[in-house]
Amino acid sequence: MPESSSQFTKPARFTDEFERLITTISELAQGSESEHLWPAEAWESLKQAGVLGWNVPLEFGGTDLNSVEMTYGYIRLAEACLTTTFVLTQFNAACQRINWSEDRNLKTNVFNELVSGGKFATVGISHLTTSRQHISKPTVTATKTSAGWLLDGFVPWVTGAVHADYIVTGGVCEDGTQILGLVSTDFQGVEPQPPIDMLAMTGSQTGAVKLNQVTIPDENLIAGPVEKVMKRPDGQGGAGSLTTSALALGVARRAISKLKEEAEKRPDLLEIFNPLQAEYQGIFDEMFDTLAAGTLNGSISEKIRERSNSLVLRASQALLAAVKGAGFVKGHPAERAIREAMFFLVWSCPQPVVQANMREFACVLD
Ligand SMILES: Cc1cc2nc3c(=O)[nH]c(=O)nc-3n(C[C@H](O)[C@H](O)[C@H](O)COP(=O)(O)OP(=O)(O)OC[C@H]3O[C@@H](n4cnc5c(N)ncnc54)[C@H](O)[C@@H]3O)c2cc1C
Repeated sequence: MPESSSQFTKPARFTDEFERLITTISELAQGSESEHLWPAEAWESLKQAGVLGWNVPLEFGGTDLNSVEMTYGYIRLAEACLTTTFVLTQFNAACQRINWSEDRNLKTNVFNELVSGGKFATVGISHLTTSRQHISKPTVTATKTSAGWLLDGFVPWVTGAVHADYIVTGGVCEDGTQILGLVSTDFQGVEPQPPIDMLAMTGSQTGAVKLNQVTIPDENLIAGPVEKVMKRPDGQGGAGSLTTSALALGVARRAISKLKEEAEKRPDLLEIFNPLQAEYQGIFDEMFDTLAAGTLNGSISEKIRERSNSLVLRASQALLAAVKGAGFVKGHPAERAIREAMFFLVWSCPQPVVQANMREFACVLD
């Protein structure tokens, strides 16, 4: 689909090679089997195309994409394969936090392993932000020792945990402050649990990780102890960031493109396709216009996420209704899009966004 934002021109970095990557990844994502498998081949394609360096500074061998490039890249990749793109976001989230470290040696070594694809890193940070927040006892405790930091507890969500060489995770100290550290999965006491069978994206092999009195050396401390270690003065690192909306928009774009194919054969569907396409374009424009203007803030991000969630839920259902019973069969793009759309109701979703989406379900008017 064309993009026609007043501010947006496709970033020069996204050449024909990127378009070939999109084709490869979308072909690998065909068929219901692919959904359950770790996307090893697609990951290899990302590696070959240099995508693993997207969120790594130039000085450490990465390509350090700006936010316009990153957002555009995520929309296009998520349209091709949500599972692969989701794994990439967790890898990139790890890179982002590793870069918070002030230890240049650590960054040089670890980024070298990550950009080359030799090692895989992921994050287990939701228990510090969105997950288990109603429980008074922290799920992971952190204690300072002479050897470094002792982490003990249960990290509820870690994508690709069983494949990870590193997990960026953290814990809560006795005084309520938090730390964030780089945990090597071969540290004693790190126990990834079997991946969970999920409504969608089971191939992301997401599961919990037990940390049984794991000692991390001081040099692996990334940040803290501070209150709300995931909150940065630059606004980076919160739940519901533009990245999460970019993925939702990518899945919506896939559903709307399929709807377009149907509408080309059945003009009665144009009255459904046209407004959905216009809505997609409106959100896309707002994303890139605010990025270009440098006016993005937390409340705009949340609003964009709320609209992207709503669009992906409705667009995928419109597609199913349009393609009828065929779309109800396992492996059809419509049933897959519907299941994938549900992910955005639970993944890194700030409470005001969840609440707004639920109010829409319940037809609660503002
Ligand atoms: C596929 C998938 C992959 C993910 N991958 C990662 C990852 O790689 N890294 C990462 O850090 N995070 C990851 N997450 C976590 C994600 O970002 C969210 O933090 C998570 O989905 C929040 O759900 P929860 O069940 O942990 O929430 P919780 O808030 O812990 O809710 C759990 C249950 O507690 C109850 N509850 C909730 N709120 C209240 C309340 N106020 N009062 C009383 N009871 C309450 C409800 O019954 C609810 O079902 C992933 C999530 C998914 C679905």
